[in-house]
Amino acid sequence: MPDQREHAEQTYLLKLGELTLKGGNRREFERVLKHNLAARLRGTGARITSTNGRFYVRCGPEASSQLEAALSRLPGIAGWAKTRMGEKTPEAVLALCVETARDLYCRGVRTFKLEARRTDKGFPLDSYGIRCAGGGAVQKALPEMRVDVQHPQGLITVEIREKAYVYALEQKGLRGLPVGTAGRGMLLLSGGIDSPVAGYMMLCRGMALDGVYFHAYPYTASEAQAKALALAEILGRYALGMRLYTVNSAPIQLRIKEQAPPAWATILLRMAMMEGAEMLARRRGIKCLVTGESLSQVASQTIENIACTQSRTGLPVLRPLIGMDKEGIIRIAKSIGAYATSILPYQDCCILFSPPHPVLRGNPQEAGEYYERLALRDLLEEAIACRSMEKCGFPQEAGKPRSRGAGPASPGALPPQRPRRGAEAPPDRPITLP
Ligand code: ATP
Ligand code: MG
Repeated sequence: MPDQREHAEQTYLLKLGELTLKGGNRREFERVLKHNLAARLRGTGARITSTNGRFYVRCGPEASSQLEAALSRLPGIAGWAKTRMGEKTPEAVLALCVETARDLYCRGVRTFKLEARRTDKGFPLDSYGIRCAGGGAVQKALPEMRVDVQHPQGLITVEIREKAYVYALEQKGLRGLPVGTAGRGMLLLSGGIDSPVAGYMMLCRGMALDGVYFHAYPYTASEAQAKALALAEILGRYALGMRLYTVNSAPIQLRIKEQAPPAWATILLRMAMMEGAEMLARRRGIKCLVTGESLSQVASQTIENIACTQSRTGLPVLRPLIGMDKEGIIRIAKSIGAYATSILPYQDCCILFSPPHPVLRGNPQEAGEYYERLALRDLLEEAIACRSMEKCGFPQEAGKPRSRGAGPASPGALPPQRPRRGAEAPPDRPITLP
């Protein structure tokens, strides 16, 4: 006799998308996905199993909203559905089809299509037989439901595997690869729209991230730092969290303003950011930088100016947005819940020190000469030494917030207040800033 818990328990079936293309490495990708999922579900009592390339998660009803949030946010999952599970007999399968159709009917669905897959060839009906018998059983039980194979309002799927699974209402996942299967990158995270999207895209390729944010306190408000933290918090939820390093670049910007030709200020600052980001990356054993640059979006992102900024780092710089237009970027920013926070009005350092007429097509050699003359290395090293670090978006038990390096002598390293931990940012609403 199944106990009550089993009755109340819900089973979710996961589809893995691109992972399935991985030949010999597939097991490793699956192991990382399982690990990520388990970390996100710690404390809920959910159980994850996998057989023959399918993942199943079982949990009590009280954990289902946390589970569904995790499934819709973890790269590597192509889709998922709450599924009914039963014995592998034709009678049991037809009963599950009718129950599933009844769910659809209650949601107003009147036309349906039934699909069937059978990995267990011992099942007495083949796929065609299951489709016919299942469709017939549904129409008998619910005469108002009609089969429409071209444009069905609802799709019922039957899978005969170790058990019989029947589901409808499949949800789309993020696809991509599990975070942690493609190394770690250092994301240059500004408070803007682009860089969080760039980070998200790399997370979806399986790359874990640390982030670095340069600010110009006291020339910029501390809310600007809180905004960057809020964005890192959002990004961290698509991974197993993200460390954000906050670096005060005010002394560097002041020196650039005082000593360099005004038109070069933005490029020179970006060069310093690249160098600073590389210094941090090397300390953490990180082998690439990630930026939100998009070709010709602004003056600093012409191909010539990108060559100038690139010249200060020997690490590969990944620019996942390079060929995207702003509308496409904004669409993704909204879908990941970052947009409303990105457009909060707090300025970051770059805007404040931007020249009115920036160089459009800088020559890397000329840029290099200006840069060397500024002798920024000591200032950069000091700024990096005084950085602060926050852990953002980590699963609840796995990481407690922690700062280091903040001290009263370095105003930019003042630990900004954290946005409310654990608060779920609904898409399109700003995460609460302190
Ligand atoms: P975003 O590109 O994130 O919307 P933005 O438009 O203010 O911000 P851009 O001028 O487009 O910034 O900068 C290009 C890229 O340089 C950013 O996507 C980001 O990767 C990096 N960057 C700019 N400003 C900062 C900063 N203050 N701290 C860290 N990285 C920065
Ligand atoms: Mg930008």
